[in-house]
Amino acid sequence: MLKAPQSFLDDCKTVGLSLNDEAIQMLGRYLHLLLETNKKFNLTAIKEPEQAWRRHILESLALLPFLEGATTVIDVGSGGGLPGLPLAIASPERRFTLLDATGKKARFLETAVAELGLTNVTVLNERAETAGQSPQHRQRYDVAVSRAVGPMNVLLELTLPLVQVEGRFIALKGAKAEAELRDAGDALVVLGGGEVEAYEALPNLEDEAVVVVVYKLATTPPEYPRRPGQPKQEPL
Ligand code: SAM
Repeated sequence: MLKAPQSFLDDCKTVGLSLNDEAIQMLGRYLHLLLETNKKFNLTAIKEPEQAWRRHILESLALLPFLEGATTVIDVGSGGGLPGLPLAIASPERRFTLLDATGKKARFLETAVAELGLTNVTVLNERAETAGQSPQHRQRYDVAVSRAVGPMNVLLELTLPLVQVEGRFIALKGAKAEAELRDAGDALVVLGGGEVEAYEALPNLEDEAVVVVVYKLATTPPEYPRRPGQPKQEPL
């Protein structure tokens, strides 16, 4: 287990995030597992624990307030479990699905879920394009979340088909969020998206992360998502 550094506890106070001791301990166990497994195969470029508490744990948890009212959440391209696993640890009352196309990553996620004893998490080793066309997952989630999977115009095609009408997609983005949104206008309209809002993820901290919220207003037409790979090769 990794002990939470004082800087993390201070940052939580600064951003108004309150976590109980059990959640902090579990986050430490998860981070330990992530950084140890990362020595064997690549899950994250961030290797230094204190930085990982900020960039992985705190940035992921910055999405918590945006999950209000949601029961089912899917993390698209979850990789080593970000942002989905910290969110699942901090909100055990919600059901999370962690989706990743890479077998090795999905196996890591399954191990992490079992070792942490999380009963509110399901791992799905599938492409988002396939899940988005399967009746079991299409338009079934209150919220989709995602970090570092692609630019907004690609990401919208991978995520919005999974979200039910009146649900939302929440992206954790960097400084390029605004420019990406300007290029995503067509995708937004075609896929059933509506209003878009952007917020500083960690106000009062020196951190570039941006939370983008996309509301879904209409059903996604049946031809989307297109076949695996096409959203990235020919973005809308
Ligand atoms: N979200 C994690 C994070 O922030 O650390 C992982 C980011 S990693 C750069 C991108 C992940 O998205 C990879 O694990 C990859 O396998 C997954 N991915 C990319 N395209 C995907 C798709 N079409 N369907 C499912 N997973 C996908």
